[in-house]
Amino acid sequence: RLYNEVQDLKGNIRVYCRIRPFLPGQSMKQTTIEYIGENGELVVANPTKNGKENHRLFKFNKVFGPAATQEDVFLDTQPLIRSVLDGYNVCIFAYGQTGSGKTYTMSGPSVMSQEDWGVNYRALNDLFQIAQSRGGSIIYEVAVQMVEIYNEQVRDLLSTDGPQKRYPFSCFKACVSFNLHTLGIWSTAQPNGLAVPEASMHSVKTTADVLELMHIGLTNRAVGATALNERSSRSHSVLTVHVRGTDLETNAVLRGNLHLIDLAGSERVDRSEATGDRLREAQHINKSLSALGDVIFALAQKNSHVPYRNSKLTQVLQSSLGGQAKTLMFVQLNPDVDSYSETISTLKFAERVS
Ligand code: ADP
Ligand code: MG
Repeated sequence: RLYNEVQDLKGNIRVYCRIRPFLPGQSMKQTTIEYIGENGELVVANPTKNGKENHRLFKFNKVFGPAATQEDVFLDTQPLIRSVLDGYNVCIFAYGQTGSGKTYTMSGPSVMSQEDWGVNYRALNDLFQIAQSRGGSIIYEVAVQMVEIYNEQVRDLLSTDGPQKRYPFSCFKACVSFNLHTLGIWSTAQPNGLAVPEASMHSVKTTADVLELMHIGLTNRAVGATALNERSSRSHSVLTVHVRGTDLETNAVLRGNLHLIDLAGSERVDRSEATGDRLREAQHINKSLSALGDVIFALAQKNSHVPYRNSKLTQVLQSSLGGQAKTLMFVQLNPDVDSYSETISTLKFAERVS
């Protein structure tokens, strides 16, 4: 195999920490980031207190500081992505509080040039290029699905009203009302892919196709959000890339899946303040993020029982979490001292799964 290097990685679960820079206008803010080591060490400090006991050391497979570029991050993600062409299932998650850079890492900023592309565009671009350059007798086909999980319900972000229908902007309303039908989940683990058979599958041949579909998915997500302020930060989005390689000489077929998951914001909601819908959302997010933590923890411990059934997120991804599958978690941090307690809670989650 061409990309054996992936098999040399220790274990199937890796955790990368990424700290976003202060944004324009935040230059006067104080940071909690004390030290970033070459080998994945991170020291955070509570700058509002003095003394050594306020410093804490965490260890990751890698830490990307505020100056790391999208390309830097991608270079360390690429081997994992390429292993999909060899038939591996890969899940890449972004975890962190709202505003910590999850969407930036996975997709990029809202207005972007190619240099700002996040992991998802770069991954697809790379898969297309490798698939072409490998040549030989293997033909690769690539298709994508994109769903959102909100309040433990799964919606198709790329649904069309009929087969082959394109996506005129005027159809968004119709798409959204269609989307609001909750999709079913297959009760048994599927050997490949997402356990949501009804989610529409879209064949893609070029990066331009992907950019168009992603734009539709993101817009669809935002359209659903108008009634509920900032809904995207309270749902998980799952972009699934299916790759099928067929060897024309032997007719052997190799399948691999890549799931790119922008998780809901992990911030805790003040129980005394949240009521109604907001409280219900917060409870669903809390439940699904801890279910994800429990699954990854059980896999890391090589436990015989892995509790997939405790959330829609882990059910949907069941066949791509565990076994031969590879998982990468981006733990996103906001450097601001005001985020200190969320930062610590994010780091504790990361510590448990790494
Ligand atoms: P989240 O998805 O976790 O809520 P975002 O990805 O939307 O967070 O990031 C919050 C803001 O910070 C956005 O304006 C985003 O463009 C910016 N940002 C995040 N990470 C970076 C980065 N590494 N470099 C520059 N800007 C960033
Ligand atoms: Mg986001």
